Amino acid sequence: MMIECAKKYGAAVRIGVNWGSLDQALLARMMDENQYAGNPLTPDAVLRHALVESAVQSADEAVRLGLPADRIVLSAKVSEVQGLIAVYRMLARRCNYALHLGLTEAGIGSKGIVASTAALSVLLQEGIGDTIRVSLTPSPGAPRTEEVVVIQEILQCMGLRSFTPLVTSCPGCGRTTSDLFQRLAAGTQTYLRERMPEWRVSAPGVENMTVAVMGCVVNGTR
Ligand code: SF4
Repeated sequence: MMIECAKKYGAAVRIGVNWGSLDQALLARMMDENQYAGNPLTPDAVLRHALVESAVQSADEAVRLGLPADRIVLSAKVSEVQGLIAVYRMLARRCNYALHLGLTEAGIGSKGIVASTAALSVLLQEGIGDTIRVSLTPSPGAPRTEEVVVIQEILQCMGLRSFTPLVTSCPGCGRTTSDLFQRLAAGTQTYLRERMPEWRVSAPGVENMTVAVMGCVVNGTR
């Protein structure tokens, strides 16, 4: 039904797999085959192979039903960094479908950002991934847009795509005489982001700029 709708409206379809919805018959068969293999894999490794197999089989079935292969995006929901990297490396070797990257249930605050950045950076550096997401638990009162900012900054820091001028700022040290540089760094990044909708039209290319904020007269301004 869904494939028929996608065909009718020329829409793309994201086919996602996760541990919870994994085809249990497929998993049981792969576990059995592994048990009798000469060099059996760990149960975790078999699970990862099963995720990949399930995703590719579902996509192949959609193609058999008439959905063009270039309108399919595969997504594997994995919430652990090494597991995500392993699964996506296998998917990239196994098929040519577009791949949607994202560490699911990455966590809250710096842990979620660090885990997502670690996983996605490895894969992006290897040329794996066509669409991308970051999935964070928002801190109380924090805006949902934090996820978008994080993913933009990952792409920009890796030199893959620019969205807004980035602030390069120093950590401060014994030469720092006040917290002015901290407030200036935070305020400057916010200001740059707020002005981008206008600058995107009036000053194309500005997103490639880097703005420096230093904490002393030795390397910058006070
Ligand atoms: S720029 Fe100045 S204040 Fe900042 S770390 Fe370097 S020496 Fe310290």
